Amino acid sequence: MSSIDRATVWPYDETGRPGEFVYQRYGHPTGAAAEAALGELEGGEAVLFGSGTAAVTACVFALAEPGTTLAIAEGAYFGTSVAFSEFAQWGLRVTEFDQTRRPPEGVDIVWVESPANPLLTVPNWDTVRAHRGLRVCDATASTPVYLRALDEGADVVVHSATKFLTGYHDAMLGAAVTRDEEIAARLRQVRTRLGLSASPDSAAALLKGLKTLDLRMERHTASARELAARLDRHPAVEVVRYPGFGGLISFDVSGDPLPVETATRVIANQTSLGGVVSSMESRYRWEGDRIPAGLLRLSVGLEDVDVLWADLEQALANA
Ligand SMILES: *Cc1c(COP(=O)(O)O)cnc(C)c1O
Repeated sequence: MSSIDRATVWPYDETGRPGEFVYQRYGHPTGAAAEAALGELEGGEAVLFGSGTAAVTACVFALAEPGTTLAIAEGAYFGTSVAFSEFAQWGLRVTEFDQTRRPPEGVDIVWVESPANPLLTVPNWDTVRAHRGLRVCDATASTPVYLRALDEGADVVVHSATKFLTGYHDAMLGAAVTRDEEIAARLRQVRTRLGLSASPDSAAALLKGLKTLDLRMERHTASARELAARLDRHPAVEVVRYPGFGGLISFDVSGDPLPVETATRVIANQTSLGGVVSSMESRYRWEGDRIPAGLLRLSVGLEDVDVLWADLEQALANA
């Protein structure tokens, strides 16, 4: 792989005019290449941000104003609701809705997540398409391998590229993708003005991650399907949620999930998801009563599926 241009500044041309790249906060060659690659996969114009949360923040600044109403899918990523709560004082009004049903009429922005992390519901696209507001879809857990949300009718797709898109738990990155030129220009403007930019190293991690994305997602899915089926038959497991694709499973044990999650040896007991290494944690510690107390979120990595099952089985003996 070619070396990464980490310059923060590029000289003007001999007549004193700014060239394509001027100052890293505005844009840089690695970022532009990664945006082109992701944009092609999504079928839109991609804009990178310093994290998924920075992409969420940029969407609020680009799409909302004081008094804007936004309906977010219940059971969607906790951090997104936390980010929105910061905007309450600036007049953003947020409600929740069940994304398997019709979004509430009259809201300005509908925010769905496919599949929602950690409850793993998927949006009802017919009713999302029929809605008159702006439609945003967080497709972090689907990736463009399983969902081209712009084709489904989303105006903007949001990603935490920190997860599956980069895939190795070594880069913080977010993206927003759209076919609307005005929204894309506004997202870029907000990024530059508010300093929400992505680093060249993180953009390089995306370029690298995209080269294996198909293969990784295929393997995540094959293993997750198998593990979801085996978990479903396990006596200590009460509920298994798996949408049928992707690497995320959430399942409930009846008692305290802590003795289970701390007993795994191959599966890392840590937060986040989407890495080549499997990870699992109870979400109650972060989300409280919003989700079942016994819920464990498992992000299935690329390890041998029988090794993963043996690890889960011995850990579930503590349930
Ligand atoms: C992790 C995550 C985010 C936030 O992304 P960061 O890169 O951690 O800022 C947003 N949405 C979903 C679905 C996520 O899993």
